[in-house]
Amino acid sequence: MSPPYLLPLNNTVELPEKTRAALDSIEQQFDLPTKKLEEIVEQMLWEFGKGLSEQPTKETKDTFMPMIPTYLQHIPSGKETGTFLALDLGGTNLRVCEVTLLGDSKWTMRQQKYKVSQALKMGEVAALFDYIANSVDQFLTEIGTTGDPNEKLYLGFTFSFPVAQTALAKGTLINWTKGFECKNAVGKDVAQLLQDALDRKHIHVKCSALVNDTAGTLMAAAYERGDCLCGGIFGTGTNGAYVEDVAKITKESKTKEELEQAKKDGLDKMVVNTEWGAFDNERVVMPFTIFDSRVDRISINPRKQAFEKMISGMYLGEVTRNVVLHLVDAQVIFKGFSSKSLNAHYGLDTAIMSALEAFSLPNSDSAADPIASIRKCITKDLGIADELVSDADCVAVARVSEIVGTRGCRLSACALAATIKQTGNDKSDKEVKFGLDGSLVEFYPRFDQRVKDALRELLGEDVVKRVVIDLAKDGSGVGAALCAQAAMAMEAKAKH
Ligand code: ADP
Ligand code: MG
Repeated sequence: MSPPYLLPLNNTVELPEKTRAALDSIEQQFDLPTKKLEEIVEQMLWEFGKGLSEQPTKETKDTFMPMIPTYLQHIPSGKETGTFLALDLGGTNLRVCEVTLLGDSKWTMRQQKYKVSQALKMGEVAALFDYIANSVDQFLTEIGTTGDPNEKLYLGFTFSFPVAQTALAKGTLINWTKGFECKNAVGKDVAQLLQDALDRKHIHVKCSALVNDTAGTLMAAAYERGDCLCGGIFGTGTNGAYVEDVAKITKESKTKEELEQAKKDGLDKMVVNTEWGAFDNERVVMPFTIFDSRVDRISINPRKQAFEKMISGMYLGEVTRNVVLHLVDAQVIFKGFSSKSLNAHYGLDTAIMSALEAFSLPNSDSAADPIASIRKCITKDLGIADELVSDADCVAVARVSEIVGTRGCRLSACALAATIKQTGNDKSDKEVKFGLDGSLVEFYPRFDQRVKDALRELLGEDVVKRVVIDLAKDGSGVGAALCAQAAMAMEAKAKH
């Protein structure tokens, strides 16, 4: 069994036999013993290898992760300087930033957000990109730039949709997600669409890098803290990018001479976007509970993003909701009654799990009276009538949250362990840095500790001692600017 992070709570309240038995059963279904974690890491390494050596086809695309080469070959040292633009499209707002790299691991940023209307999300793609170019124009007019007015400004474009990348500033849209449905976009090069729109308006800006947010996170972490192996996101979804040997990306088929030249030029590494959220879509190794199957079955993308659905913010709360409902239906908690929000699809936000478990943190306001703080979540956030909630129910709900969340953290650790092994860092004596971003990393209580505990089981204390996990925020701003800087540096190198 995994270590019980909320253990003190279990001892404060005597649980009825029925509650204890129900919790034991849930615990068993969600348990990931060390041996299982090891199998998962092995399978992940197998998928890494497949993805690096084979282009996915229609038939094979769900059997391994895509492992997309980003063509990003310049990892920042912290000494980079210059002024760059960064664009971020993929959420509710379009963000335009001007980032100045100061060269001492520090930077300054000015930014502006622009609303992307429903009409733009559903209309012609040219209209969307005209709007983006207009926003850049407006930003430069209203906020201005400190860059050299005689030189073209380099821009890094964080485009958080699935893209088949073929060069640092070239990639075609595979499909839209997250409510975007623009016409005439799929199959087009999105960097070119942006450049055309900028050129139509005679804006002196060059789109020089197309950036995945994981790669941006890695770049930002490397700039701020030096050498970084992997950038990861544990937010709405989960994904990671890491620094791989060019020689191992055999689907890009380079000759021996080319590899030797790359080494001479110092370009023998490349950032690879794993798309690890899609790990084990074929269900080879991960133990799926009936709760996972239910979450998957009624999701908008059944049988896709299998790993993500056990780990990320969009789904953890939904898995927890299904388990809590099961306890209600089995008459174990709340005297068998539910509520409107507990009945609603996605009615239990992952943020509620953080609130339920907040008392477990040292220095937490709720540490003194955990039951009262859990009760508040259950009645206020989940809308269960106070008279239906016993103290034992409070323990049960918090424990369910912990069980589901701990499994998520332990699986997250598998992705980190696979990256460490893939790059031979389990055998080195170097510090191994991860730059991670997203609400789970930032807000989920004891995320770090749970991940590190699982890493320790997998790799041993000697390796874990060398692992540094940093919160690396704003990969889509600073990170994208660093990608634009990398494009400039690589162009300069190519000229020589
Ligand atoms: P994105 O990945 O889109 O950049 P975030 O990193 O902000 O987004 O993560 C948003 C996700 O995190 C949502 O699914 C939300 O349910 C979840 N979330 C928001 N706040 C918290 C919190 N305090 N604890 C855990 N999860 C949270
Ligand atoms: Mg984010």
